[in-house]
Amino acid sequence: MAKEDQGLAIGIDLGTTYSCVAVWRQDHCRVDIIHNDQGHNTTPSFVAFTDQERMIGNAAKNQAATNPQNTVFDAKRLIGRKYSDPVVQKDMMLWPFKVVAGANDKPMITLNYKGKEKQFCAEEISSMVLVKMRQIAEDYLETKVKNAVVTVPAYFNDSQRKSTIDAGTIAGLNIIRIINEPTAAAIAYGLDRRINCAGERNIFIFDLGGGTFDVSILTIKGKIFQVKATAGNTHLGGEDIDNRMVNYFVEKIKKEKKVHISGNPRALRRLRSACERAKRTLSHAVSATIEVDGLFNGIDFCSSITRAKFEEINMELFNQCMETIERCLADAKMEKRSMHDVVLVGGSSRIPKVQELLQDFFERKDLCKSINPDEAVAYGAAVQAALLSVGIKNVPDVVLLDVIPLSLGIETKGDIMSVMIPRNTTIPVKRTLPYGIAYDNQSSVEIVVYEGERTRASENNLLGSFSLSGFPKAPRGHPFDVCFAIDENGILSVSAKEKTTGISNKIIITNDIGRLSTEEIYRMIQKAEEYKAEDKKFLRKAETINKIDYYAYKIKKALENENFSLKLWSEDRKKISSAVTKATELRDGDEQEEEIDVFEDHLEELINLFERFFEESD
Ligand code: AMP
Repeated sequence: MAKEDQGLAIGIDLGTTYSCVAVWRQDHCRVDIIHNDQGHNTTPSFVAFTDQERMIGNAAKNQAATNPQNTVFDAKRLIGRKYSDPVVQKDMMLWPFKVVAGANDKPMITLNYKGKEKQFCAEEISSMVLVKMRQIAEDYLETKVKNAVVTVPAYFNDSQRKSTIDAGTIAGLNIIRIINEPTAAAIAYGLDRRINCAGERNIFIFDLGGGTFDVSILTIKGKIFQVKATAGNTHLGGEDIDNRMVNYFVEKIKKEKKVHISGNPRALRRLRSACERAKRTLSHAVSATIEVDGLFNGIDFCSSITRAKFEEINMELFNQCMETIERCLADAKMEKRSMHDVVLVGGSSRIPKVQELLQDFFERKDLCKSINPDEAVAYGAAVQAALLSVGIKNVPDVVLLDVIPLSLGIETKGDIMSVMIPRNTTIPVKRTLPYGIAYDNQSSVEIVVYEGERTRASENNLLGSFSLSGFPKAPRGHPFDVCFAIDENGILSVSAKEKTTGISNKIIITNDIGRLSTEEIYRMIQKAEEYKAEDKKFLRKAETINKIDYYAYKIKKALENENFSLKLWSEDRKKISSAVTKATELRDGDEQEEEIDVFEDHLEELINLFERFFEESD
């Protein structure tokens, strides 16, 4: 991974539910948020597989209700996690697609594609979303794009960050930097407001998105953006709000219609979509209707929900947001009064109750809504991408100082976590501390690395281990040094050195929590290329079928015109009608499975017939 790279670089907000891509336009001195082929600035982070094709983005989300088992979303919730992780186990219960344990306890998404069972890891699904985002950028910019800055939630741990980089590699993207989502949002906000005050300005970023909740405190002084503290909740966002609404209506349907729809993925998916729409309506209206025709067993469901009821069923979630805010302020050792601005980020920050609670908490301070909450993160990522690219002009002068979200340390005697780098330390950082061996006559020590805030090491998240061995047997307390180094992406390498002999060993934390090996990544890149080729083939076939349909229609129409049809020899008429019949068969029948050549040959025949006999009828 290069820190700096030539050429155009884009910023990608790879979201749990929606993703967004942006680019710095040096000629216009501004960031462009890039719209997709539907004209939307955000694209659903959805991938779907059918008997015929693979879809990514809007196309995948739009068919989710009819193909729930083969439509994947939320891959970000799986990335860098083990199958046995309680978070994964809990999430799985809500997903209509199947997740099984793969090698090294890696969660694998199991789907049906073209009639065959296929397995994908979260990195592969995310890579497909990244490919789509790159494609959106390339179509807009009319040039190839290779480099990107990708954002991650501030609380993403070492493994989740590395897995995100792996997803980029599979997508054929060079991820030049991983930055935290709230930091990116702060850049967007800071530049939007052209904050350039002499003193320091403290900014509180409140980011409530589709799947996750992040808060951060930053100070902006001149061109320096420094993160002071971050806190968050990996499972708090719009989807959880939707879930509560779904549960509420499932119970209501049980009571009113006497049916249980909880075991029916299709009904649940359709109800969920209706709930999400109603939720958005409730951000500007005081009540909303939920209408789903033929929801279950032919029952049409129609109901309504008031904003007050919506707030009641979600109050617990809103309160959790407030608790996280207090934790972040305590970590930063700052008073809420010292916050100059409170910035709203993430689609769910539009919910009026959330804004009201925030305003109350910050003593009626105005909330900053000047930047679009869906686009702020990609905006900041695009600025960072331009800053890291060689030769890009007119980029705002910004220096980012980010922090690590979790404390990092090693296990010492008695299962004690010895913190080497406390959470919220500014990165990059390198720290060396002296340790002593635990027992007499040891000639090796095991360095076990953890991240987390618990005093018992084993209750934290294990990142990896290695041994320092080969030195002469030594008495208890014999010294050795441990060094932790964290780079700009928040990625850790650990080394240890025995001082008298100079023997040392080190690791860059890799496979312990199921990170992909180089060979696996290589294999997945090849697989991704195959899928890309298949998608291309499918598109070519679909376009050819459309053209066949078009010419068959035009010929049929021309045949209705007696001026032309009566002039035809019967031999020609026979030939033409059999070509039209074959066209219909190719379009609708079992012939769909035929190779592309069959379609292209027939299209050519139709075009020839049309040009020979009917051109003038047009
Ligand atoms: P993000 O991940 O920031 O794109 O946020 C997406 C989430 O914001 C989804 O759960 C959306 O349902 C939610 N969202 C978007 N617009 C609104 C709105 N007007 N009111 C409530 N939630 C919204």
